[in-house]
Amino acid sequence: MMRVVVLGAAAGGGVPQWNCGCPVCRAAFADPALRRTQASVAVSADGAHWFLINASPDLRQQVIATPQLHPKDGALRHSPIAGVILTNGEVDAVAGLLSMREGSSFSIYAHAKVLAVLRANSIFNVLNDQLVPRRPIDIDQPFELALPDGTPSGLVVTAFAVPGKAAWYLEGQVHPGGDAADGDTLGLTITDKATGTAVHVLTACARVTDELKARLADAPLVLFDGTVWRDDELIAAGLGHKTGQAMGHIAMSGDDGAIAALHDLGIAQRLFVHINNSNPALLADTAERKAVEQAGWMIPPDGMEVTP
Ligand SMILES: [Zn+2]
Repeated sequence: MMRVVVLGAAAGGGVPQWNCGCPVCRAAFADPALRRTQASVAVSADGAHWFLINASPDLRQQVIATPQLHPKDGALRHSPIAGVILTNGEVDAVAGLLSMREGSSFSIYAHAKVLAVLRANSIFNVLNDQLVPRRPIDIDQPFELALPDGTPSGLVVTAFAVPGKAAWYLEGQVHPGGDAADGDTLGLTITDKATGTAVHVLTACARVTDELKARLADAPLVLFDGTVWRDDELIAAGLGHKTGQAMGHIAMSGDDGAIAALHDLGIAQRLFVHINNSNPALLADTAERKAVEQAGWMIPPDGMEVTP
């Protein structure tokens, strides 16, 4: 039976963000229960071997907080983490790799464009290729994740291109992975080979296309980009000058938002992840949170396990 753990549901910066005095961050500085780590999800077919979707800068804290990811009893060196699947090259998706440099073997799965970004940043060479192979993902080509010893994991991944953009720090730069349109933002469908159940994970998505709707229809479990409540939220709050769209993220609300777009698709469980600290839906007593929950969505706490 496939298991899914939401290690963290916050967007880049986390909740609270170190330098932010917005209402949500102020509340979270004061109340530990409101704190959230940056988005990452762990999936497993057998409960013993886990694959991370993205390695957030909070990875070490997430591993400590998640018993499923602790070294097994009796082993001197061990981690249940068998691999990391990167859906993009943003700092909040890749920086946690630097916390995995202590000589354990696992695989990094990512699109060639994102692997090129890692290759162009030599600090990632702390992960030795022999121990930590980098495996390119092709779009719309299902493949089975492998354990470090090469045996099949029981989890089949299909990566698909979704509307988005390259990492912020590449703006105005030559992309190390070239100019091909797709590859910087992936959605993932992870299927349990034994049961056929699947989880769909999209931590970034700028727009819900008809093709995406068809893919997600009748899904048992969808984890979806919840970065902003409304597109101009950062500007309106005086926190930044970019819209959600300019950052490659759809809003939760509005006629074109995620809640409206994924309504009536027969999705059994809908969870928002990658929620920015500017988003008022993070606070339990807001009208925005009520609207999210009334629409059948959940804002998962860190560490929550869900079963598709
Ligand atoms: Zn804030």
